[in-house]
Amino acid sequence: MFKNIIAPVQAWLLSRGQCVGCGMPLSKGKRETRKDGTEKVICKCGRIFIFNPKTKKYRRALFEEV
Ligand SMILES: [Zn+2]
Repeated sequence: MFKNIIAPVQAWLLSRGQCVGCGMPLSKGKRETRKDGTEKVICKCGRIFIFNPKTKKYRRALFEEV
């Protein structure tokens, strides 16, 4: 039940390019280009996201991508 409340907030933050944990703009995170052309973004709080330059969208990194 708790997750159902949190998920939309996280999706909203990600759509704005902000970390879901600390709210920092992910443009300030540490970036690494990946083989598939997407970028791995590491926030200063340690959360890891994947940025897709084609869609200009962020998403949480999957476990195997960390
Ligand atoms: Zn963060």
